[in-house]
Amino acid sequence: MEAVLRICYYDTMQIIRARVLGMCMGVRRADELAREAARDAARTGRRVYTYGPLIHNPQAVADLEALGVHVLDAKAIEAGRGELPDLKNAVVVIRAHGASRAALSRMEELGARVVDATCPRVIRSQRLARRYEQQGWQVVLVGDPRHGEIEGILGHTSNALVVETPETALHMAKELKDIPCALIAQTTIRQEDYDAVIEIFQARVKTMTAEKTICPATQERQKALVDLCAQVDALLIVGGKNSENTKRLYASAVDCGKPAWHIETAGELRAEMIPFERIGITAGASTPDFIVDEIQKALLTMV
Ligand code: SF4
Repeated sequence: MEAVLRICYYDTMQIIRARVLGMCMGVRRADELAREAARDAARTGRRVYTYGPLIHNPQAVADLEALGVHVLDAKAIEAGRGELPDLKNAVVVIRAHGASRAALSRMEELGARVVDATCPRVIRSQRLARRYEQQGWQVVLVGDPRHGEIEGILGHTSNALVVETPETALHMAKELKDIPCALIAQTTIRQEDYDAVIEIFQARVKTMTAEKTICPATQERQKALVDLCAQVDALLIVGGKNSENTKRLYASAVDCGKPAWHIETAGELRAEMIPFERIGITAGASTPDFIVDEIQKALLTMV
């Protein structure tokens, strides 16, 4: 979110929002598509589901639930276990992380209309993985094997491998030394973590290439936070406690040496967060605007 009113002055407090904060393009688009499906469903009576939680933010998921958008257990479906609700004529929104091809086909076979809200950047990674595999390369995904994005890309290939740490990369690169390898990074990992894996493969694998798939959204929020740190006395980092990019923002705020708190909602504001002249606010890439607005309003009532 590009904040319109970045700096607000009150009697004894100045609230400054980060230059870039909140929902990234992919999450915002998925959220809008789910809301559009909910509006449509209110007219047509169709049931609406998202394939796994749409956003790593419990309040945003609860907000969608209140509009009649329910969550399917994507992990259970991918693993072929668990009971599915009747999906005939239902709408299933695929989240920004994407889903495997098998999952997409299964939803359609069960009679659901699929609204694909996969982020265009993730679609690019899925296509790259498929293309490299068709050309005989060994695809190596660099990221968290438990993350929905990696699970989804895996489901667009037949034999891609996943590497999470430099230690496993070292072992894998030795095994693959004579096989052409194409590295594709999860869009949200840190560039330095990807670079470490690239370096290991470059030193050990005869033919390799590394695609630039890391999304700038996370880095932009990190850079804006560093700028913000220089302007404020304390920081509030807003976002889901289960959101990796929000946790990383909080870690960077702590590194800046200013008092910092990671909160999900205005209900977590405490008196110790208030006695500062200038308070900075930033938010992770899955935090809806309304939560940031609520926190700013609640701060005012506390001064
Ligand atoms: S972080 Fe980047 S890749 Fe991931 S959903 Fe947002 S815009 Fe897409």
